[in-house]
Amino acid sequence: VPARILDGKNLASRLQSDIRRRTAEFVAQRHEPPTLAAVLVGDDPASAVYVRNKQAACRRAGMDSRLHRLPAASSTGQVADQVAALNEDPAVHGILVQLPLPSAIDTRAILDLIDPLKDVDAFHPLNVGLLSQGRPRFLPCTPHGVLQLLAHGQVSVAGRLVVIVGRSEIVGKPLAMLLAAKDSPLGPDLANATVTVCHSRTSDVGRFTREAEVVVAALGKPRAITAAMIRPGSTVIDVGINRVGDRLVGDVDFEAVQQIAGAITPVPGGVGPLTVTMLLENTLTAAQRLAGVVV
Ligand code: NDP
Repeated sequence: VPARILDGKNLASRLQSDIRRRTAEFVAQRHEPPTLAAVLVGDDPASAVYVRNKQAACRRAGMDSRLHRLPAASSTGQVADQVAALNEDPAVHGILVQLPLPSAIDTRAILDLIDPLKDVDAFHPLNVGLLSQGRPRFLPCTPHGVLQLLAHGQVSVAGRLVVIVGRSEIVGKPLAMLLAAKDSPLGPDLANATVTVCHSRTSDVGRFTREAEVVVAALGKPRAITAAMIRPGSTVIDVGINRVGDRLVGDVDFEAVQQIAGAITPVPGGVGPLTVTMLLENTLTAAQRLAGVVV
């Protein structure tokens, strides 16, 4: 039997309805609507699409969104000035700097400048540190999306072997931290895993993934995780988004792996919609926290 599909699109729409309801409640208590400010530098078409999707999701949830576009030739100082202005602006609750920034800009310096209380991507070192100590303030959006897919797909990771392929600061590393923790905001079944992290220097990734009860593919290589690398009945989460010709494909060879795995996420329609949803969640949380409604 082919694997059960973990439908991210459907889950995202249910979670976004709940966020819209909680946002309306918050606004009804005489608060300004949660507001996300996006900073987009240069004219990378993919980045423009991502920002547009995030803004549309904000509006659907009853939040305000602002877009600050800066020219591709901006200096680190100019982007820093924009971020500093948003830090100071009491009408802005969440700040999102769309990555990648043009190569001449010092990305780390910009991310370090974002007010940690408005850091809805959770990239600031203070928020990364809090996460690593098991007391996160904001959960990073893509790893949080993976947890939501597992939770709603009734996949427990506690006591099981999870293999994550990829160790980026955005996906692999924070996800490994969350899954190996003693507890998670989604409950102890979404923590307490034994986690192995593979990367480009791992010799024979398949040796590890074949043992795994849960595989998370986040390496950014189209269809790199093949059926021969998967243990029958396991859960496969595909974070990858790769453009191949005019199609979007994941890091997993979906058609073949679907015949082996027990559960699998499609691309598109898997992790992607959850990432945007978790950004909304963080923006609502940021506004509530800045209003003193939650800690
Ligand atoms: P990065 O390119 O930053 O990181 C890729 C990681 O995979 C690195 O750790 C790299 O190792 C490792 N890697 C690369 N090639 C191999 C290989 N052949 N075998 C094993 N490991 C390998 O990517 P991101 O983490 O930012 O993104 C990963 C994928 O997820 C991309 O396709 C991206 O588009 C997608 N993505 C999707 C999101 C969503 O919402 N669904 C959100 C963010 C990303 P090393 O560290 O040694 O270089």
